[in-house]
Amino acid sequence: MSESAISCKVLLVEDIESEAALVIKHLRRVSGWRFVVEHCDRLVPALERAREESFDVVLLDLNLPDGAGIEVCQRMHQAAPHTPVIVLTNQTSVELGTKALREGAQDYLIKREVDGPLLGRAIRYAIERARADRALRSSEQRYALAVAGANDGVWDWNIREEEVYFSPRWKAILGYAEGEITEQISEWFERVDHRDRERFEDALNQHLEGHAGYFECEYRMNSKNDEVRWVSTRGLAVRDETGAALRMAGSMTDITRRKQTEARLLHEAMHDALTGLPNRILFMDRLDLALRRFRRDPAKLFAVLYFDLDRFKHVNDSLGHAVGDELLAQVGGRLLGCLRPGDTLARLGGDEFAIVLNDIDGPTDAVYVVERLHEALAQEFEIESHTLYTSASIGIAVSSEIYRTPDELLRDADIAMYRAKNSGHATYAVFDTYMHDQAMFQHRMETDLRRALEKDEFEIYYQPIVAIESERILGFEALLRWHHPSRGLVMPEEFIGIVEDTSLVVPIGWWVIERACHQLAKWQRMFPVEPSLAMSINVSGKLFLTDDMAKRLAALLEDCGLEPNTIRLEITERVVMDHGDLVLSTLSDLRELGVELDIDDFGTGYSSLSYLQRFRYDTLKIDRSFVQSMSDKIDSSAIVEAIITLGGTLGMKVVAEGVETSDQVQRLRAMRCPAAQGFWFSRPMQKDAVNEYLRVGSAMSSVRH
Ligand code: C2E
Ligand code: MG
Ligand code: MG
Repeated sequence: MSESAISCKVLLVEDIESEAALVIKHLRRVSGWRFVVEHCDRLVPALERAREESFDVVLLDLNLPDGAGIEVCQRMHQAAPHTPVIVLTNQTSVELGTKALREGAQDYLIKREVDGPLLGRAIRYAIERARADRALRSSEQRYALAVAGANDGVWDWNIREEEVYFSPRWKAILGYAEGEITEQISEWFERVDHRDRERFEDALNQHLEGHAGYFECEYRMNSKNDEVRWVSTRGLAVRDETGAALRMAGSMTDITRRKQTEARLLHEAMHDALTGLPNRILFMDRLDLALRRFRRDPAKLFAVLYFDLDRFKHVNDSLGHAVGDELLAQVGGRLLGCLRPGDTLARLGGDEFAIVLNDIDGPTDAVYVVERLHEALAQEFEIESHTLYTSASIGIAVSSEIYRTPDELLRDADIAMYRAKNSGHATYAVFDTYMHDQAMFQHRMETDLRRALEKDEFEIYYQPIVAIESERILGFEALLRWHHPSRGLVMPEEFIGIVEDTSLVVPIGWWVIERACHQLAKWQRMFPVEPSLAMSINVSGKLFLTDDMAKRLAALLEDCGLEPNTIRLEITERVVMDHGDLVLSTLSDLRELGVELDIDDFGTGYSSLSYLQRFRYDTLKIDRSFVQSMSDKIDSSAIVEAIITLGGTLGMKVVAEGVETSDQVQRLRAMRCPAAQGFWFSRPMQKDAVNEYLRVGSAMSSVRH
């Protein structure tokens, strides 16, 4: 026997001496192995030895004096569960041999057929199989431990046999106890939530048919108490040689908590915290969806409504942000109440809301909804013991082939909203091509305006302001003109609005102030009169929002050598109403500086009287619409007279604007209106014409005096 032979300890249990000897003889013949055989002829001592000693293999006769039949095998297996057992039988008891295999024996041999090679092979296989079994068992244990630790459910689906094993944890995830779920695959599939069923089946089939390397799906399951659980399932199929799946096994993890967190985060990212409504991101997404639907099927018309609350800033400024916030939240609630479930209402920011109105037949439907919205908003709001009223300006854009992106639709609804706002409160406007052209025009103007300052295209015209009684020139109003390279002379009403919506408002505003001041200084030197000539300058509200306005103006006046009280800044009522406290503080600084402050276009703004109480102004300029309709059927003489009286009572000067006829002059004189301005006296003039006008005027007055 060679040195390198494998050593193997054998326990031979055989009561018939001759047969035992035969086996031992055979074993000696097995090449490459060295067997150390211990022989027992009774079961009980053999069991004892098997417990004490670790044998590599047991050769076991099932017919012993102290034990017979399958029981012998069972007892040996109990005594040495990890030692492979090979059963030795007689030809007559083959059936017993196969039973023994079920009881844990590795193999059985028929004694008469046994020879050296057969025995050697049987022993070798038995030992190897026992070792593999041990390895598998420990790996299974490891796996079971890992699964228990991960808290995952396990399933094992025998596709051929139509049987599934569901682990206790698998059942527990769905709220079931061990005995409550059978081994049918329907127990699983029928609990998949209907919303996810298609996706689930797709993923499963992809893997079963071999298109996906593994099965993985996150989906909802209906649990025992009708709750929805989110689970993540992974699995892998075992296939036959043709590739058909025979069996599939995997895990199921409860991901409900994660999904809830994800859903919450997603909701927060897509919604406005104050109103709980969708935010701009979600709104654009819905709008995109509607636009795609429309492009697939142009019969599916929809509209975008763009809202802006009228004078919301005023609520915020006067009652505080908490009230403002509450108002926005309540407005959101009311609007939502007017819509159908398929529509989307969003808060885009500030006091702006927008709606995607789905499935409409045309613009009329949208207008109908808008009227309902206006009605809903018109009801009073009760907030912290305040009773508030609000309204909205609404722009409407209806889907059409011209729109390629959601932004374009929203832009046009926005343009329509501005149009609505300009025509008053609680109004709406439907976007049309005219507005589009208008918007394009504005855009071009804006571009042109940006170059106008550099290219020196602006000029100031001056219109005299005259004392009615003496016809003496008191001063001028500076009026801006624009020499557009292709459009010729452009009047301020066509471009001032655009300027005010851009950052140009500050540089252009100061350009006018500086020019007008320098010009006035020249005229005061050329034509010294008592009191000095004055200059009225129109100032945009935005300028009052810059905090250095008074300082900058003081420096300019110093530079020009002008008395502050010869400068009159004209502001419209609307400016002060819109900007509240910030404007008021700049106004105080200006008053301290000593410049005069005039209210322009008086009578056309809102709540004029309360506004006169808030701040002291020097002059009221009566809007020309009142002056000009004095002789009309709708006689405004009473209003003009009332304004003149009001001015007098409050110690303010009064200037009537737009005086065109001698009849108007007569009436104003009769009403004791001190000053006027209008074409009757002079149109606005270029500075050279003014020079001439002043020269003639001073010559006339020197003749008169
Ligand atoms: P406003 O301040 O009320 O100026 C008076 C407007 O009435 C001027 O129009 C003037 O030409 C016009 N006007 C004067 N007398 C008569 C008359 O007898 N009949 C008629 N029908 N109109 C008369 P303009 O120059 O077109 O200016 C329009 C408005 O543009 C001004 O109204 C003012 O609000 C604004 N504006 C003009 N220049 C400036 C400026 O430099 N800055 C700002 N922010 N606004 C300006
Ligand atoms: Mg003016
Ligand atoms: Mg005016």
